[in-house]
Amino acid sequence: MHAAFLYHAIDAGLDMGIVNAGMLAVYDEIDSELREHVEDVLLNRRADATERLIELAERVKSNASSQTEETVVEWRNGSVEERLSHALVKGISTFVDEDTEEARQKLPRPLDVIEGPLMDGMKVVGELFGKGKMFLPQVVKSARVMKKAVAYLTPYMESEKQSASGSSRGKMVIATVKGDVHDIGKNIVGVVLGCNNYEVIDLGVMIPCDKILNTAREVGAELIGLSGLITPSLDEMIHVANEMERQGFTVPLLIGGATTSKAHTAIKIAPKYSGPVVQVLDASLVVGVCNDLLSAERYDAFASELKASQLALRERHAAGGSKGPTLLTLKEARSKRYATDWRREVIAKPERIGLTEWNDLDTATVAEYIDWSPFFWTWELKGLFPAILSSDKYGQQATELYEEARAMLKRIIDEGRFRLRAVTAIWPAQSVDDDVVVYSNEDATEELATFHFLRQQKGKASDSTYYCLADFVAPRASEEIDYIGGFAVTAGHEVDAFAKTFKEKGDDYNAILVQALGDRMAEALAEYMHKQVREQWGFGQSESLDTQQLINEDYRGIRPAAGYPACPDHTEKNTLWRLLEVENRVGIELTESYAMYPGSSVSGLYFSHPESRYFNVGKIDKDQVEDYAKRKGIAVETAEKWLMPNLSYE
Ligand code: SAH
Repeated sequence: MHAAFLYHAIDAGLDMGIVNAGMLAVYDEIDSELREHVEDVLLNRRADATERLIELAERVKSNASSQTEETVVEWRNGSVEERLSHALVKGISTFVDEDTEEARQKLPRPLDVIEGPLMDGMKVVGELFGKGKMFLPQVVKSARVMKKAVAYLTPYMESEKQSASGSSRGKMVIATVKGDVHDIGKNIVGVVLGCNNYEVIDLGVMIPCDKILNTAREVGAELIGLSGLITPSLDEMIHVANEMERQGFTVPLLIGGATTSKAHTAIKIAPKYSGPVVQVLDASLVVGVCNDLLSAERYDAFASELKASQLALRERHAAGGSKGPTLLTLKEARSKRYATDWRREVIAKPERIGLTEWNDLDTATVAEYIDWSPFFWTWELKGLFPAILSSDKYGQQATELYEEARAMLKRIIDEGRFRLRAVTAIWPAQSVDDDVVVYSNEDATEELATFHFLRQQKGKASDSTYYCLADFVAPRASEEIDYIGGFAVTAGHEVDAFAKTFKEKGDDYNAILVQALGDRMAEALAEYMHKQVREQWGFGQSESLDTQQLINEDYRGIRPAAGYPACPDHTEKNTLWRLLEVENRVGIELTESYAMYPGSSVSGLYFSHPESRYFNVGKIDKDQVEDYAKRKGIAVETAEKWLMPNLSYE
């Protein structure tokens, strides 16, 4: 269509345009039947032009699939080595056992099958992935084929007392640090390393430092990998680096997870440990880094380059630090708060206040609220749903993944695999400066608790607002009674339990798929509950938004989550947990770092003000930290520990 359009457009006088050269065919080479159908559409030549073109497309599509069937047969004609390699690259596990058996009979020892054809196949996978010609879901499927083959050979190797680990490129102990439950990214890294012939000892989540280091010593690990999702884990990683130094470790330390960064690694973690400390952004980079770190020839260059770049980052940080960002005093910032005339505001009055526990939530209903884009990001397929399904780069892979995810979701729904639970509440509330006091009664005479918030202090243009979430709630001084809400939702421990059934069978692909769907369902549940609560609150009853508008959060109000930029203090979850009785009602626990366990859980507060919005608190000064500590009744050092990423000072 592009080629035909361009041909006619040029003819009609077009003299400049921007085109995707890769999409252009030569006009004269377009099949004449197709060209006629396409031009019927472009030139609007017949009423049924669209239908005819779609029909033709269907025919082309079915031809294409019959071709794949032919090629199935064709690749089965190759040598056993070729067949194994093909199965690995394409991620096809159907014939693995029989091909592995054939290779075992052909080669002298079972181990030769692994070191020969299987490794060769994985090498191709590794290269294609490294070059960006193959994407993560495919690699994880290849790993599944590899695992299946190795599992088939294991009994034979045991009887001959051989082990596959002797041939590995290196041994790595990997774990999510104490207090954190981040699992999916770590699992993906483990699988990618595994299929590149690394032996990965995955200790799981919430692993204390001692256990990581003791295991590393016992197994003789050549690499240690730490993973974490939430900001308090950054501190724990510093602690592990410290301990590695103290205990005389020299092996490289790898750092990964959403809140980690090159800067934090260079400035806070690397100085604690004399061995290399490398932050690895995502799974596609980890193999290259590990190869360099374990290569006798490349190690020195890699390590000294790393140290130099980290030193440069520290110097830049120190230089920037002495200038410092310009911060307003807390007093000044408060004087520039978001302000409104509360007597003229129409405060939405809920039908009912207090807690609501939601059991027996229908998984199929909630699944309608899934935001699919982040699902693809988990698999390192970058783009927005649904456009990603037809993207030039990821389209094919994304479509396949989506179909499999849909099928798995259907199974989860049909078999009742996840157990969705939620607790929500709306309380009368008033703000007092940067705090919000919540009450148990409508007259606002019985205080239940106080939520503490932080205010922006970093200098902006002169007439700007310095936001704090408390500003969106009517102040006590206004004598108006306002409301805020809270929620905690989870897809349950059932997510991990179901994922485990696949993992135990060596099927990491489906295990990761289930975990990713667990996270999606928890987020969808948060969206669904928010909608229910807006209705309870009254103002949501006249709302009519479709799924995309809900995902865009086009409704009135917000649901900020503790640990996110507008309210970065994770410890505020304590108050929420107490008020909502979260552990008893929905079974989500808080770890010592305030991560929610099970991981497929979401919590936050509801604000109803039409102008309420998300923002980033950013850097704050000592005056605010002191004020905050006093308000919360904690020591300044304790406040500093939890607010570390937001401190403008050392
Ligand atoms: N549809 C997404 C929703 C999660 S991200 C998904 O399925 O993954 C958006 C959520 O993150 C918001 O609803 C809010 O709870 C939280 N959030 C985003 N920005 C925030 C900020 N600046 N401060 C506090 N919470 C924020």
